[in-house]
Amino acid sequence: MRKELCSIRFRNGDLGDLRASLSANLNREQFAVLLGKAEDAGAAEIVAARDVIYPSKRDIEDSSIASLRINRNFVAETLKQMTDRLDADAYIEVHTHPFSKGLVVFSGADGMDEKRFSDYTAKEWPGIEYASAALSQTMHGARFWHCGARRYSGAAIKTQLAYEAIYKKTDQKDIAIDSEQSGVFNRGMLALGLES
Ligand SMILES: [Zn+2]
Repeated sequence: MRKELCSIRFRNGDLGDLRASLSANLNREQFAVLLGKAEDAGAAEIVAARDVIYPSKRDIEDSSIASLRINRNFVAETLKQMTDRLDADAYIEVHTHPFSKGLVVFSGADGMDEKRFSDYTAKEWPGIEYASAALSQTMHGARFWHCGARRYSGAAIKTQLAYEAIYKKTDQKDIAIDSEQSGVFNRGMLALGLES
């Protein structure tokens, strides 16, 4: 029985690295596969992301700002590679929505592709779990598919993404506070006659 909650977890820094490489190009949708290990954690399914695999140029058949087509051989090779390993049983597709700054909304095409893929994994790769994630410029959305049942649970990436956005704001605030404080400090120095 699959869980209604799923959490996708990254080792420290891994998500930042992934995001940096995928968002380097905002002109075209970018794609990567994470190999993960699914663990039953009571009420929730936890998927630990282990390795990231980037398609090479020749694995991408077509791409635009809002779509991407990956060569089937890349997908089959990656799935096969995973079944040879003991420490990975979850295939997590990550793609970008470079056109979107904030909220991630999976498109109808995303949903159709994923449903089809979940049927395919259920049939051809039983035992493999499948999740998908989409990254906008600042946020993420994720789904954990119940392969063979044509449904998914919402998934959350345990993430630095939200923090990164907060860091940005905090940084700006800090700079503002610093400059104000240094202004005050300078005035104090002047008032005390310590300047010269
Ligand atoms: Zn999408």
